[in-house]
Amino acid sequence: MCHAPTPIGPQGTHYARCFPCNSGRYSTALRGFVPICYSVHEGLEGALWRVKNEDASSWLQLPLASLLWTFLNSHLKCIEGAYGGAFDLGVTVPSSKQRNGVNHLDALLSCIQTWPVPWKRGLLTKMRSEPAAERRQQIVSDLFSADPSVNGRRILLLDDTFTSGGTMASAAHALRDAGASCVVGISFGRQLNVNREEARDLISELPQRPLDLETCRVHGMSEVDLFFMG
Ligand SMILES: [Zn+2]
Ligand SMILES: [Zn+2]
Repeated sequence: MCHAPTPIGPQGTHYARCFPCNSGRYSTALRGFVPICYSVHEGLEGALWRVKNEDASSWLQLPLASLLWTFLNSHLKCIEGAYGGAFDLGVTVPSSKQRNGVNHLDALLSCIQTWPVPWKRGLLTKMRSEPAAERRQQIVSDLFSADPSVNGRRILLLDDTFTSGGTMASAAHALRDAGASCVVGISFGRQLNVNREEARDLISELPQRPLDLETCRVHGMSEVDLFFMG
């Protein structure tokens, strides 16, 4: 799902999927997760942090919105094909940081008039404000609360970045709790942590790897293809 670098198994080869994806830990809440690209400290992560926290960096909304628009226009069909069909709504994961009273991701989305998925504001509310570090790799069931209007809807859920996946999975849990029939996550970045040994080779390759927007993680895949990927 997240295409993170994975640890080396007993046979000396990498596992096909990272532990949270493979164990099914998140899968009751999150049907799938598709990052646009990898993110590293001082790279995309830095841009995402600045657009969220610094007024002087609000211009970064434009290239980020453009990146997301380009990605969705090319690959929304792939994501829908891999995870059960068209989405009814797009929802952002709220943060404690707002820009003019609007969640910073909703502000970013408002830079572009026409999206291939109907984004709707205010459907998720953050109920607690502890730092992300305290909820690594787990679903916190009362971290978010979702509006009852998501009942029966298929939701595309956007967050900045996916590190351990705990925030995304907790937001998906709240949506499912309110009756959403399916939640699939996307993010700008799949964060790679330099302190994790399995990520180091990949991080060192990234400067030579061009950003490829021609394909996506589920490019042209059906649900059956995904199933056989394990
Ligand atoms: Zn994963
Ligand atoms: Zn694709």
